[in-house]
This record gives sequence, C-alpha cells and structure tokens, in this order.
Amino acid sequence: MLDIRIEKTTNPKPIPGPENPLKFGTIFTDHMFIMNYTRGQGWHDARIVPYAPISLEPSAMVFHYGQEMFEGLKAYKTEEGKTLLFRPNKNIERANKTNERICIPTIPEEDFLQAIKAVVKVDEAWIPTRPGTSLYIRPFIIATDPFLGVRPSDTYLFMIILSPVGAYYPEGLNPVKIWIEDEYVRAVRGGVGEAKTGANYVASMKAQDKAHEEGYSQVLWLDGVERKYIEEVGAMNIFFKINGTVVTPKLNGSILPGVTRDSVIRLCEKWGVPVEERRISIDEIYEAHKNGTLEEVFGTGTAAVISPVGSLRWEDHIMQVKDGGIGEFSQKFYDTVTGIQTGKIADELGWTVEV
Ligand SMILES: *Cc1c(COP(=O)(O)O)cnc(C)c1O
Repeated sequence: MLDIRIEKTTNPKPIPGPENPLKFGTIFTDHMFIMNYTRGQGWHDARIVPYAPISLEPSAMVFHYGQEMFEGLKAYKTEEGKTLLFRPNKNIERANKTNERICIPTIPEEDFLQAIKAVVKVDEAWIPTRPGTSLYIRPFIIATDPFLGVRPSDTYLFMIILSPVGAYYPEGLNPVKIWIEDEYVRAVRGGVGEAKTGANYVASMKAQDKAHEEGYSQVLWLDGVERKYIEEVGAMNIFFKINGTVVTPKLNGSILPGVTRDSVIRLCEKWGVPVEERRISIDEIYEAHKNGTLEEVFGTGTAAVISPVGSLRWEDHIMQVKDGGIGEFSQKFYDTVTGIQTGKIADELGWTVEV
C-alpha cells in the first residue's frame, strides 16, 4: 500500500468541452503521479502533483541509452457516472515483464494499480463522456542517473500522465491502408520486441515515413530473420479472418503481447469462433486473397480498439480486403469491447475495474 501525498493545483486548466474534437495525446490533465526509485531504498515518495515540466540532468541515462518503458490503458465513464478501467492488471503484469527485460526495478502490482486509480480519481472530471471518448492513461519509467557509462541506472522516475482522447476515428471505424515492409525490420527474437519500450518505436520510424510517403498509414512488419512471417503493425497486433477462422501470429518473443489482442482471442473462444495463434506467412495471406478466402483483416490496440484494414500492399501487389470496408466480425468485436468498457454491455468476463 503506497502512502500517496496529494498536492492539488491552485491553477486548474479549463476542461475541454464537448465541442473539442480531442486529438490523440495532445491535452493533459491538471495532475500527474510521480514516484522515485533509489537502489538500496526501493520505490519511495509517491505523490500526485500539478502536471508540469520536470527537471533532469542532461547526463540522465534515459537520454543516452534509452532505458525507459511505458504502458497505455484507458478509463471510461459509464452512463451512471462510474469510472471503469479495462483489464488494468494485464497492463501492470506486462509493465513488470518489460521492466525485467530492460533491467528496471519492478513495481508491486497492487501499488501500480493504486497509483493509477489515485491519479484518475483526482482528475476524474477530465474523463470525457461522448461516445468513443475516454481518458488515456500513460504510465512510464525513465532512468535518471547522471552517468554516461553503460549499465542499468540506480535511480528512476515512475510517472503517470493522463490525456482526454477522442474517438480514434471521428467518423467511426475507418479502414486503413497498410504497407507490408520487407526492407527494414522492427525486432528479432531475443531483442526487446515483446517489451513496451521506446526502442521499438524508434526502430520503426524510418519505415513508417516511407509508408506515409507512399500514401499508407501503417506498416505491417515481417519477421526479422526470413522476412516471411507476419509480426504486427508497430502499435497494433494484427488479425486475419480466413475462411471463417480468426488467425493471429503467435507470441514468439518479438511481438508485443497486446491486451486488446488477448481480448479478441478470449471473445472468439466465448463466441465459439474458431481462433488460431500460429505462424502466418505473407505467402499464405497472398494466396488467401487470391482465392477469395481472406475475409477480414484488422489491427488491435488500446488507442483505436480495432482498426479495420481496407487494403495491404506487399511488393507490387495491392490486396484489397473484400469491398475495402469494415468486416462483420471487426464491427462485432468493436461494439462488444467498447460496450463492456463503457458499462453498456454486461461484463461477463470480469474485465472492468471500478476506480
Ligand atoms: C501497445 C502496443 C500494442 C497494443 O497493445 P494493447 O495492449 O492492445 O494496447 C501492439 N504493439 C505494440 C508494439 C505496442 O507497443
């Protein structure tokens, strides 16, 4: 149990009203959670303070060797005014796996959840209520030792910041165009691909730029060894519905284990939809498209929940998925998950946690 000191702002910012379109991650609430770590002492000085810049030494290790981790989850307001988190323990469990992989000290799960709940409670009035909106929660940890040698830091900052966000696609679910990358790779087994750390994102930017130049919004990564097997979409996991079966790449050490990915698999099991986690080659997708059995393609992640894929480009082939619109399964999954998140659909799987 953390002893959290709370210092409220004396200068609150205006809370965005319903007219504000709320772009992703541009507005931050009045407060943030901070806790320090010092080797020998452990995590200490948990506090909620006004959202403000922080001061770090230019030599702080995070700036030089990238020892940092992050998470992303959301809080939702129900019609009755309750505040719900969606499967926060999955994020917390994953956070500690990331920590272990990159030599950051872990945080007791109950303390992590307490910190999230406490800061969300303080800024509860910032949770937007229009359909599709939510409060995005960004916990992260950075290495702060002022030292240019290479080793794990002895001091860290754990912070949680909050951002009201709009519907990812204001006009509703919007099919995206995907570029299948066969030159650059994102991650290899044994690396940090399954950890939620900035390194994976910096590794992906060049290909993302290339895709944008070609008019594609996202990159689909192939495996780093043979460039043959499907991995993920960089900030989303990927699913295909082929001939009635939902398939997704199995977690192989270089793919991020998404909470939304797990939720799709659990719902398939509940609904009796055949679902497989296995290796999927790009040739298999190409063949399925050619013979008409590629029924749906969609990405999954906390930010958009689901992102239907309208078309894929692989080398010189452009594969349009069916009519390029939203598939029936994609829509059903989106409606169910967002319904559970906002308390409109009974939470039979026990996925929501009240703040
Ligand atoms: C966060 C993330 C995802 C999606 O995970 P969710 O828990 O569903 O939000 C997928 N891929 C990468 C690389 C990520 O960082």
